[in-house]
Amino acid sequence: MMNDLNAGLMQDFRLTIPTLLEHAATNHCNTEVVARLQDGSIFRYTYADLADRSRQAANALCNLGVSYGDVVGTLAWNHHWHMECFYAISGIGAVCHTVNPRLFEEQIVYIINHARDSVLIVDQDFVGLVERIVDQIPLVNKFIILGSRGCVEEPRGLGDVLYYDDLIATESTAIEWPEFDECSASGLCYTSGTTGNPKGVLYSHRSTILHSMAIAQPDNLSLSALDCVLPAAPLYHAQSWGLPYAACMVGSKFVLPGRHLDGKHLLELIRAEGVTTGCGVPTIWTMALEHAEKNGLDLGQLQRLLIGGTALPTNIRDRLREKGVSAVQIWGMTETSPLGTIGRANREVAAFTAEQKDTQLLKQGRLPWGVEMKIVLEDGSRAPRDGKSAGDIWVKGPWIARGYLHGDGGDVLDAEGFFPTGDVGHIDQYGYMKITDRSKDVIKSGGEWISSIDIEDVATNHPAISMAAVVATFHEKWDERPLLFVTLTEGKTVEKQDILDYLDGKIVKWWMPDDVIFIDAMPMTATGKIRKLNLREKYWNHLSA
Ligand code: ADP
Repeated sequence: MMNDLNAGLMQDFRLTIPTLLEHAATNHCNTEVVARLQDGSIFRYTYADLADRSRQAANALCNLGVSYGDVVGTLAWNHHWHMECFYAISGIGAVCHTVNPRLFEEQIVYIINHARDSVLIVDQDFVGLVERIVDQIPLVNKFIILGSRGCVEEPRGLGDVLYYDDLIATESTAIEWPEFDECSASGLCYTSGTTGNPKGVLYSHRSTILHSMAIAQPDNLSLSALDCVLPAAPLYHAQSWGLPYAACMVGSKFVLPGRHLDGKHLLELIRAEGVTTGCGVPTIWTMALEHAEKNGLDLGQLQRLLIGGTALPTNIRDRLREKGVSAVQIWGMTETSPLGTIGRANREVAAFTAEQKDTQLLKQGRLPWGVEMKIVLEDGSRAPRDGKSAGDIWVKGPWIARGYLHGDGGDVLDAEGFFPTGDVGHIDQYGYMKITDRSKDVIKSGGEWISSIDIEDVATNHPAISMAAVVATFHEKWDERPLLFVTLTEGKTVEKQDILDYLDGKIVKWWMPDDVIFIDAMPMTATGKIRKLNLREKYWNHLSA
């Protein structure tokens, strides 16, 4: 028989999410998934159990009439229930819309309506929130509370609510997962909308599988069956960086911290469960570290922390290193699933001196296969890879968004198919990208850019400074100048001049902030980042006032 040489003779095995679950259930059936529940107690089962309950939940959703293309919202912490929902919802071809409960209520209402959620799955902790907004989300026709009847007081105004554990109890643990195109939508996550309304990023089965394969690689998050992974990034924040999928793919033990993200609880889990790998924003790990340092505790079997969301502070890296743990920086965004770059050595960097290597790996990192990047200068040309020509960062790849839900934001890709990240940075000759700012936070003084991120990193190394933010303020001669905002470490005091003296010699001379402003607390976004826009607006005329 003649073959058509244009078509490969490999199987059409669809890259869909149920394949991950079934793989883990069959090949890592006894590996544990652990969760800390609302009351602080520990729940523990295996991938085989996770798969059984996910299939039961999928059957229950089908019986409720949920089908291909429907959107099911979740308002929940990181625990086994939420992970089961990920697999059950996407598995039947519906879209798992993880709603960020920390957004303002108006934003939560907006995104539930905008996404057209028809079913809302609710954590026991968020029943009150849903009671408050129920009149404003008319498209939701079913509420499912995670637990069994009696786990919370009977909610008011939600109609006939269902209880997840009761609902799935009578369902079969067997299912014939429906077949659909691997490009079908699987998950929906809104950006936090620091400017304007949040926008929906719609992941597909294919993008999810390819992203999982990528993050598991040794040069990326380096996940294996021997690892024990603790995702401290919430499941509603870029799907906890894709870890619920990658964990099933490699069969690592998975430890979900629930709502207990304080230092004491995190550390307890890390030590008791033998966590080797954690992921999350720096503030989370600072709390765990502080608890360990204060109580003279080690970090158990922890080997590495993947840190992203904001730049990796030098002092966290150093303090972790003292405890034998390496901090690996990852850069990305909701729109990039989120893996964009990762701060790991390549051959050239591995041969650097220890000091050079440290400086190099504080950059946001190099590109994995699957992410292409270009830096575009103000005149529209591409920047050379010289480690200093900074411009707008654009990316392209199979797990990078090509647009937002319902066409929000218009056509975002450029003619070459690249997505604008809104970050500004440069790439060096070794292929390492360094972010100097987000485009909306850029400080332009006398036509030159000042990196707020670099100044913040140095400032937070000062023992009296707990958090630092550098924002632009108006200046008659230089257009803009940097202002440094700080919050102090508990029990410490420091004078403005001491801070400026401390910065002297550690940052470029003309980057020296024109003023230091002490504030009690930083304005924060729902994803735990400093809301610089507030400071910028409030203090724009600070120098001329
Ligand atoms: P938002 O903060 O708007 O909700 P994301 O949570 O998706 O959006 O965050 C993406 C942004 O976070 C990136 O565009 C970048 O500005 C910032 N970011 C993420 N990782 C890093 C990092 N390692 N260093 C510096 N900035 C980072």
